[in-house]
Amino acid sequence: MTTITHEQIQYLLDENCCHECEGVGKDKVCVRIEAIAELPSRFGDFHIIAFWNNRDGKEHVAIIKGDVLGAEDVPVRLHSECLTGDVIGSLRCDCRDQLEAALRMIGQMDRGIVLYLRQEGRGIGLTNKIRAYSLQDQGLDTVEANLALGFRDDERDYAVAAHMLMSLKVKSIKLITNNPKKIQQLTDHGIEISDRIPHIMEPNEHNLFYLETKAAKSGHMIDFRGKEHFVEQDDRPIVKGMTEHQIKALYE
Ligand SMILES: [Zn+2]
Ligand SMILES: [Zn+2]
Repeated sequence: MTTITHEQIQYLLDENCCHECEGVGKDKVCVRIEAIAELPSRFGDFHIIAFWNNRDGKEHVAIIKGDVLGAEDVPVRLHSECLTGDVIGSLRCDCRDQLEAALRMIGQMDRGIVLYLRQEGRGIGLTNKIRAYSLQDQGLDTVEANLALGFRDDERDYAVAAHMLMSLKVKSIKLITNNPKKIQQLTDHGIEISDRIPHIMEPNEHNLFYLETKAAKSGHMIDFRGKEHFVEQDDRPIVKGMTEHQIKALYE
């Protein structure tokens, strides 16, 4: 297995320190690599790369496995930050399971990238997400709770992700997703996608609701407490054992 070298790291940092471009997407998003370090983890040996961007003041990061510079067909997963799920292990969503499945998958590959995008609660922010949970506690369903809080700007997220991949000199990617529509959104921002890798998770005590929900209501799953499951990641996993009907319902 090859990893990126100190020379490659220095090259990226030198090139990015003065990077300017016309930007990606309607918001003209531009990013720069600011810092790179090794990141040994329980899921494998990675490098972590911190980015600056000209739009949202958030510190988006790439977690990379192996040598991705100039590489083709690099497996890539986009993950949106979820403090309550990723860090605290909340069961109101399945973000942590999704993130761990992606890191575990890529950690075992020769090369791959997780883009960890700092857009808590699908971009509405932590406080608003907790407001949405609260509305749900008071009986609103997730659709109503989201409506009450307003929707996110999807377009900008894909522009940031696209530019991050360009900064990493990736020639083409295999997007880890179950949603074929996502491929178009990244392609529109100039990313070459050579293939799609299904995102599949092992069943566990926390995601059993995926398997047990008989009729998904517009792709919304009822969790094991009988509450509607909050959908924070816009790219939902397949759990081994799901029926064709359940898989199809995820994206309706
Ligand atoms: Zn740029
Ligand atoms: Zn979450």
